[in-house]
Amino acid sequence: MPELPEVETIVRELRKKIVGLKITDFWTDREKPLKQAGGSRAFLKEIRNKKVLSINRRAKYIVIDIEGDKTIFIHQKISGHLMYGRWKMKSEILNPKLETNSRFPPSPRLRRAGKMHNSKRRWISAISGPLKKDRENQYIRYLWTFGNGGQMAMSDLRRFSKVMLVKDADLPNLKEIKELGPEPLEIDAKKFLSLFISKRGRLKPVLMDPKFIAGIGNIYSDEILWDSGCHPLSRVENLKPRDIEKIRKSTVKILRKAINYKGDSMDDYRLPSGEKGGYQEVQCAYQQTGKKCGKNDGGTIKRIRVGGRSAHFCPKHQKLK
Ligand SMILES: [Zn+2]
Repeated sequence: MPELPEVETIVRELRKKIVGLKITDFWTDREKPLKQAGGSRAFLKEIRNKKVLSINRRAKYIVIDIEGDKTIFIHQKISGHLMYGRWKMKSEILNPKLETNSRFPPSPRLRRAGKMHNSKRRWISAISGPLKKDRENQYIRYLWTFGNGGQMAMSDLRRFSKVMLVKDADLPNLKEIKELGPEPLEIDAKKFLSLFISKRGRLKPVLMDPKFIAGIGNIYSDEILWDSGCHPLSRVENLKPRDIEKIRKSTVKILRKAINYKGDSMDDYRLPSGEKGGYQEVQCAYQQTGKKCGKNDGGTIKRIRVGGRSAHFCPKHQKLK
C-alpha cells in the first residue's frame, strides 16, 4: 500500500500536469464506489467543465479541489494508483485459438457461464513506455479526460480503491479525515513528544496507526525504527523523551529521503508517468532479511511478526525497551 512518500510524490507529479485544466469527460467500470456521488452519471455532471484548482495530500488520501463547492476525494488503498497520460479503448481477443478455429467454438457450459464472448475491452496507453509495458499500469477503473486531451487514470488490480465527491465545507468532517493523527512532517518536537504521553503498546504498530500519526505504513515504520535504533517490539510506555526525539528525527529524515527518491516501488507502486520510484534501492531494514546491517555493527537484519504484520530490524543496534 502506498505510504506518505508515495502519495506525496503522486500529488507533486500530478500537480504539474492537471492544475488549471478543465475536466471534460469521465469513464469508469466501477459503479459501486461512486454510489456516494449518486452514480457515475451524476458524478460526471458535477465535475464536467470544472477546472482543477488544486491537488493535495492528507495522510494517504488525495484531495482534488475543483471549481464550485465540490472536491474529489481519492483513496488508492492497496493496489490503486494514479497516472497521467493518454489512453485508447481496445478490444482484445482472450483466446486466439477459439478465434481462428471455428471447429472449436466455446462449449455450451462456457456459454451458460456467460463466457461466450471471446474478447474483452480495455484501455491501453496511447503513448509507448512504462504506461503501456508495465503490467501494474493495466487495470484502469477510472479515467478523467481534460480539455488539453490529457487523461488521469486510476488503475486498480484489486478494486479496493475509493473515489468520492465531497462538499468543500464537509471535507474536514469526513470520517476518513476527522479521525486522522497529525502529519509527521508538519509537527514540531513538542507536539511529537506529546503524542506519546499516555500512549501504550508496541512501537511498530503504534507508528503504523493512522489515528496516532498519519501516513506511516509497513515500509517506513521499519526504516524509521532502524534509523533511530529503536526495537519494533519496544513498549511505547518504556521510551524516554530522548528515544522519542530520536524517532522524530528519523521520521523526518526517512520520509524526506523517500520523497526525494519518489517513493518505494519494490511492490506495485508507480509514479503517474508509470515509472518506478527509487527508494527500494536504498532500503536499510524493510525486506532486507539476512543482509548485513548498514550501520556496520556486525548485526544481521531479522524478520519477526508483530500484530499480524512483519517487522524487519537489526538485533544488534535496535534495543528492546
Ligand atoms: Zn545494526
